[in-house]
Amino acid sequence: MTQQPVTTVHLTAPAARVITTELRTSDHTTETGGILLGHHTHDTVTVHHAGTPGPAAVRTPTYFLRDLAHAQALADEAFASDGSIWVGEWHTHPTSRPTPSARDAATYRQLLGDPELGFHSVIAVIFTPHEGRWEGAAWACRLGSIAPVELRLSRPAG
Ligand SMILES: [Zn+2]
Repeated sequence: MTQQPVTTVHLTAPAARVITTELRTSDHTTETGGILLGHHTHDTVTVHHAGTPGPAAVRTPTYFLRDLAHAQALADEAFASDGSIWVGEWHTHPTSRPTPSARDAATYRQLLGDPELGFHSVIAVIFTPHEGRWEGAAWACRLGSIAPVELRLSRPAG
């Protein structure tokens, strides 16, 4: 499997459903989010599983950090079911633009710098409210660069 710089992030219906449900039911005075698991093939990252924040997530109005134990459990489950690996994360910016903050960028740099994690690119999908609905923007982060990429969203069925 060859990995090229990411140009497209595809959220499959099961992953989109988890995010849509969290966006609908969460308290948006603070950020929410979770990890993304899937496959990076050629220039596309396909997200098969999306996580919820988990009980120990750090949630403030301007920052989100996943619950590590919760994320690890989901990652183990996803790997066992279809070989999905950790490709990045999603979170909300309830009151600002859908671009990674300086603190987000620092988190992604830390992940990219850890050789044990083996990241090629860290994918970030950030959701902001726009005219009564949530809109997502996808970013591919590599050491020294964060670039916007196309986000393809499969409609959750039912
Ligand atoms: Zn952020």
